[in-house]
Amino acid sequence: MAPDLSQHFKFMAVALFVGYKALLKNETPVACVVTRGCQIISIGYNHTNITLNGTKHAEFIALGRLKEPVDYKNLTLYVTVEPCIMCASYLRQLGLKNVIYGCGNDRFGGAGTILPLHNDPKLPHKPLTCIDGICRTEAIQLLRNFYIQENESAPTPKLKKNKDIDDKVFPPNINPHLDEYPEFYGEARIKRKDTELTPIVGKGYNVSEFLNLEELKKVPHLEEELGSVTNDQVADFEALFYDINESGHVLYEQHVEKYDSKRRKLSLDSQ
Ligand SMILES: [Zn+2]
Repeated sequence: MAPDLSQHFKFMAVALFVGYKALLKNETPVACVVTRGCQIISIGYNHTNITLNGTKHAEFIALGRLKEPVDYKNLTLYVTVEPCIMCASYLRQLGLKNVIYGCGNDRFGGAGTILPLHNDPKLPHKPLTCIDGICRTEAIQLLRNFYIQENESAPTPKLKKNKDIDDKVFPPNINPHLDEYPEFYGEARIKRKDTELTPIVGKGYNVSEFLNLEELKKVPHLEEELGSVTNDQVADFEALFYDINESGHVLYEQHVEKYDSKRRKLSLDSQ
């Protein structure tokens, strides 16, 4: 019996939305939420462009502003991209237990992609449980939108047509943990490594179905730091992503026109 991962997708969808809001401010769209039980208690997003400080990563921002004392082992961090080497070490030193992330970080990943700082037995702190693949394609797609905008010249960079970015195959699903955490993913998912994870096995999804405007408005620090959240933004956010069908395959072709027009709208409106 495969566990229902809806709750994890829900928190990751909020992290992706925070990343999208950061993208509208020209920041790298890597973001996270910190949860205790069913509640989001903090968020973070990269401040590296705004501050010109390369250490201001989402994880440091989100956890650094929690008021002490904090029982870190009861917190779960949802981050769109695998924590880097610096952050993985930081999370482990804090005593966090569970880290759930979207896509691997093939340049700096500290949860196994480059260095396994999360569970290296030579380190003195307790290992981190790192689980990946939740909204993996969405995390990658959000990053791509940022890099495409970056590469276009000012003043009104346009997003390229879908074809230019989406004909490319997404980087391989790293999922080094599929074998390690069957109770999290469920046996039914573990047998199918070539597909994306879906919240419920045999049921497709679009990431926006996990978002709710009223709930987003209550996410701590979101509106006060990144501006008010509107229905239009939620719609634009939705338009960035493809649906995943019930088999776990990304539906590239089905929505090209719809998404293409909305992407252009996003790039113009948000400048
Ligand atoms: Zn980092």
